[in-house]
Formats: sequence, structure tokens, C-alpha cells
Amino acid sequence: MAGRNFLFVPGPTNTPDRILRAMHVAMEDHRSSDFPKLAAPVLQDLKKIFKTTTGQAYIFPASGTGAWEASLSNTLSPGDRVLAARFGMFSHLWIDMAQRLGLRVDVLDTEWGEGAPIERYQEALAADKAHEIKAVLFTHNETATGVTSDVAGIRKALNDTRHPALLMVDGVSSIGSIDFRMDEWGVDCAVTGSQKGLMLPAGLGIVAVSPKAAALYDSARLPRVFFDFGDMKQANATGYFPYTPSLPLLYGLRESLDVIFEEGLENVLARHHRLAEGTRAAVKAWGLELCARQPKWYSDTVSAIMVPAGINAAEVIDIAYRRYNLALGAGLARMAGRLFRIGHLGDLNECMLLGGIAGAEMAMRDAGVKLTAGSGVGAAEEYWRSTATPLESRELPPRAPDAQPAAAKEKATVGAAR
Ligand code: PLP
Repeated sequence: MAGRNFLFVPGPTNTPDRILRAMHVAMEDHRSSDFPKLAAPVLQDLKKIFKTTTGQAYIFPASGTGAWEASLSNTLSPGDRVLAARFGMFSHLWIDMAQRLGLRVDVLDTEWGEGAPIERYQEALAADKAHEIKAVLFTHNETATGVTSDVAGIRKALNDTRHPALLMVDGVSSIGSIDFRMDEWGVDCAVTGSQKGLMLPAGLGIVAVSPKAAALYDSARLPRVFFDFGDMKQANATGYFPYTPSLPLLYGLRESLDVIFEEGLENVLARHHRLAEGTRAAVKAWGLELCARQPKWYSDTVSAIMVPAGINAAEVIDIAYRRYNLALGAGLARMAGRLFRIGHLGDLNECMLLGGIAGAEMAMRDAGVKLTAGSGVGAAEEYWRSTATPLESRELPPRAPDAQPAAAKEKATVGAAR
């Protein structure tokens, strides 16, 4: 199909051309004396994305799932109790992993579309007088439902109950796109992957570890080999990896961090919020509901949009892909057919997102959703126009005189002739 594929799944996200170019490298010796010049600063700079100065970042040639496993297996022992809420596919999968690793999981089942239930976490922690719960698992942004939960709130629950459990946070679809403060929120293991806010292909599982979590490494008895923090720490200390790292991804990560720092992390977060708000304006104009039940849970990286009764969201997604070259995210598990997702994270601006919203609008109409053509696009446009940064405050040069409208142009050229 001609033209670009419009990629609006919530990961993998669009990779900027300059990152693609940075990854286009010849292979080299990862044990050379030059290699630490690449790896050591990347490991240092990653910490800024997690907002940690005391934590240690590790990069595994894996994905977010690998980083989940690294967090559990380096800090816990078989039979340990952990506390976790399940309110979407990804929180479910992390719980499933913990159970399969031999941990005892106290599951707080919650409606999909709601955020992590802080009060129920707090009750469970308060009831655990013997401090048997060794870790709290918390999914910051549940990508399946487009729900963001309150990490500061779960930290407060742990503090208020004076509970010493580790706080492990899945930030796969938040870190680098939604405000995340590892040190301030007392997060012990913060998990992410390369293919979302970092705008890279999948292939890196990244985890930042607090000193408190690191101290448990020696006593933790869950088996680990590939994901062993000890091996990684020892090799990283001299700027190397314990096994062959993915060179293109490391070069890509270097470039991705530079892209983020050039825009400014806070500006990146603000841009995500603005893009999300415009998307939500479109959803409202369509007369549709988000899966997220309350505004406090609205995600700035993904909107999960419920389709009306009688419409199959899978058909919307299929039409979008086959007819309009637009990739929308699917409803997962119990949400299959009931919603589609627009990922609005990574390397994205208003006009790109208007394309995605327009395509979703067309596909929905084709699938039988009663909508006014252009209603969602118009609402998003209005939101973004009304909140746009004034041109004067942008560091852009004015347009060249011969590209200005006729009157201004004449004035400029006549003036120049005199
Ligand atoms: N956690 C969340 C919130 C996710 O969105 C995903 C993937 O989309 C994962 C974990 C799993 O990550 P990966 O697919 O990189 O293994």
C-alpha cells in the first residue's frame, strides 16, 4: 500500500529517523577498549529518565517481560508473599509470572477500567502485621485499558502502614512519557522496555533498582541466570555486559536519550499530556466512552475506546489496517471486540495524531458506528489550536520574504528595491 503505515498501537512506537540512522552501524567488538565509552554513559543517563540518583539501571537484551522477571527473581525467594492488583492484561500477566516463579500472590481483583485500588492495598498491608508480604507489584500504566494509577498513593499506603515491602512498579508504558519519580516515590524496582516512550524497537528490558532492593540480592533464592543482577553489576562496573549486548539497540538508546534530553524530559511529558487531551476531545465528540472510568485514571500514552453495543471493535481495527493502512491497538482478553486503542506516545505530534484519529473515524463509520464525519478530527483540532504555543515564543526564524503572503512580500521586495 502506498504511503506510510500509520502506527498507532501503544508500542512499538514510531522510531525517529535519526534513531534509525544511529542504529545503522557495523558490528563491533563488545569487549574492545572503546566499548565502555558507549555503555557507561548510557547506563548513567538512563537514570534521569527514571528520576533516580540513588538507583542503578540495568539493561537486559530482553523486553519488558524480562525486566519483570529480573525484578522478581533478584529480590525474592520461593514461597514469598507478594501483593498485586489485577485490572488489565498486563497486571494479570505480571501476577501470572510471579505465580509461575513460585511466589504466593495476594491478588486484588479490580474492575478493568479502574485504577489500582490504593485503599485495598493499604488494608491488606495493614492486616499483614507479621510483614509476610515481601513486595507490592503495581502497574503504573495499564496499557490494556488506558488507565494510569497513583504511584505516590501506593508509596503513601506503604509509609502509613509502616510496611517494609518492596515497591515494584511496571512503568513499561509510562516511563519517559508520563511523570515518573523513582526516588521521590520510593520505588524499589522500576521496569520498562525500549519500544514505547524510548521510541526504539523492542529488544531491551530495562530495570532501575533501589539500594534497598539491591541489598536483597544475596538472600533472594529464586533461580536466575540470564537476568542475574550480580553478573550484570559486575560487568557494568567496567562498562561491559556479561554476555553479547545488542549493539544497534545500545546505539539507538544513546540517540533516543539525546532526543529526549534535547526536547527536555518535562516538555516530552507535557507534549504527551496535550496529545492525549486532544485525543480525548475526539472521543468525546464521537459520543464514545473511554474504558478508563474516571478522569483521574486517564492515560496520557494510550486511549482505550469502547465501541457501541452491536459493533465489533476487532472489525474496526481490521478495516483500519486493511483499508487505511492504520494500525490501531486491539482489545485484549475480556476487552477483545469491545474496544480499540489509540497509542499516543513516543515520536508524535498533532498532525500525525490527526491522521490516526481521522483513520479511526473512517474505520468506525465503515464498521457501522454512527458518527458525523470529521467530528473527532474537528474536536482534536480545536483543542490543539486553542492550546497551541504562541509562535512568538518559539525559536523559529520568520518565513523568508518571498514565501510570505502577497502584501507582505510586495512591501518587503519594494522596500529592498529602494
Ligand atoms: N507491562 C505493560 C504495561 C505493557 O504495556 C507491556 C507490553 O505492552 C508489558 C508489560 C510487556 O512488555 P513486553 O511486551 O516488552 O515484554
